[in-house]
Amino acid sequence: MFNAFRVIFSIIMCSILFNNSKVFAEIINRFEVEKYGDVIWEVPSKKKQVAITFDDGPDPVYTSQILDVLKKEEVHATFFLIGKRVKKYPEIVKRELREGHEIGNHTYNHPSFHTISRHKVVDETRKTEHLLDPAHHTDYIKLFRPPGGTVTEKNLKVLKKEGYKIILWSWHQDPRDWTNPGAQRIASHILTNVKNGDIILLHDSGGNRSQTVLALKIILPKLKKMGYEIVTVDELLKMHPRYNEFHETKMEKKEEILP
Ligand SMILES: [Zn+2]
Repeated sequence: MFNAFRVIFSIIMCSILFNNSKVFAEIINRFEVEKYGDVIWEVPSKKKQVAITFDDGPDPVYTSQILDVLKKEEVHATFFLIGKRVKKYPEIVKRELREGHEIGNHTYNHPSFHTISRHKVVDETRKTEHLLDPAHHTDYIKLFRPPGGTVTEKNLKVLKKEGYKIILWSWHQDPRDWTNPGAQRIASHILTNVKNGDIILLHDSGGNRSQTVLALKIILPKLKKMGYEIVTVDELLKMHPRYNEFHETKMEKKEEILP
């Protein structure tokens, strides 16, 4: 049945074509796929938990500023990293891990993900995975976020085979911080729309992210005041009804790679 789904997710971060998320909502077949848990937009539950994610790092200027804010507020976040930047700034990634944050794969070169071949998908993800986890641990769920949030049916199959859980973001939690709309506006967007289980999209690289840093200083204390616990994506996934099956998938992957 799964093969029958024609899936094109196109939240194109850098494209004006997809400025209107309602247009996007009509294109995709989210609700056909979401029930299987292969692609995650959010994890609604009764628990007042949200996850904050940062894409496109590590960045030599802004990631450390973000880490400082997270440390001060004693909050853990999830960073979706670009492999070539990990290679350039490994110390920043070490700090992320040392301070208890979670890291995920965001390809090696950040290509237009819906246009690349299966072979390239494997190449882009494995190259980054080798940097993120050179020891090839299997005791955690491998997280992947496609550049621009774009996944085709073909790529989804490849990513599943590679053992990834695809993490997108709540459609109402994209404050488009990369357009620099103002720190207050970024913060208001998040705080006004927040719901249990949200996955919030921010960026720690790709330009001047000082508004994101400032916004974070507003968002974190306010979310706490509103009673929200800020957790990593993996922590949030524990509230997913199929979380145990996610682990089973991972174990199958382990067997596959054994000689
Ligand atoms: Zn990106």
